Amino acid sequence: MILEVDNIHTYYGESHALQGVSLKLHEGETVCLLGRNGAGKSTTLRSIIGLSAPRSGRVVFRGQDVTGAPAYRIARQGVGLVPEDRRIFPGLSVRENLEVAQYQRPGSSRQWTVARIFDEYPMLAELADQDGATLSGGQQQVLAVARSLMSEPLLLLLDEPNEGLAPVIVKQIGSLIDALAKTTTILFTDQSVHFALKHARRAYILEKGMVVHEASSEELINDTETQHRYLSV
Ligand code: ATP
Repeated sequence: MILEVDNIHTYYGESHALQGVSLKLHEGETVCLLGRNGAGKSTTLRSIIGLSAPRSGRVVFRGQDVTGAPAYRIARQGVGLVPEDRRIFPGLSVRENLEVAQYQRPGSSRQWTVARIFDEYPMLAELADQDGATLSGGQQQVLAVARSLMSEPLLLLLDEPNEGLAPVIVKQIGSLIDALAKTTTILFTDQSVHFALKHARRAYILEKGMVVHEASSEELINDTETQHRYLSV
């Protein structure tokens, strides 16, 4: 087990955003967190990486209890987050956006370099000297994922990677996830079922800060009742 989230409760002030979320990821799995707007998907990812510390419950990453640890420390243990708004650094070129994110865990070997990123994603190589802020939404999403790879994550958290992107770009993001899934464990969020089930092996559905359903993609794709009850379809 690479990640165990056990009954976490997370608050924004007095607002009780996560009300006992539990989930597990095996090493190498790609899993999707589904749910409508405000269901708690982002908060779950933020709780895992420590940006919104759970008030109770536990987050265990590679056998270590990381609940309440600062985000930078959890990131350094091998958790990468690509936030919903991508957070590309304006004023830095595409190359610089990648360079500043470089981090090598002690004892690990370096897999990702700027040269390899440019090799795998030629579109970024072509844009290497361009200010990251001038990229299109889709280009920024690819850059955001590539930047997260620069810290060699063992677990990659992707928050609504398709948000606001044109269908042709969504397809490219899907291929990117499939390629990364061969070497990395991935937990991503989405609002609709179609993309999620194409690229994930299983899914958890969140509603009102609780996991209300868990199923394999094959089960969920045929379960239209659950889809209509909890998701935008
Ligand atoms: P979305 O698709 O809108 O991002 P989500 O499933 O990711 O939805 P969250 O963003 O995790 O949902 O929100 C869960 C709950 O927490 C919602 O009720 C939301 O209004 C609330 N919430 C999220 N961020 C904050 C914040 N910074 N301050 C207060 N409440 C927040």
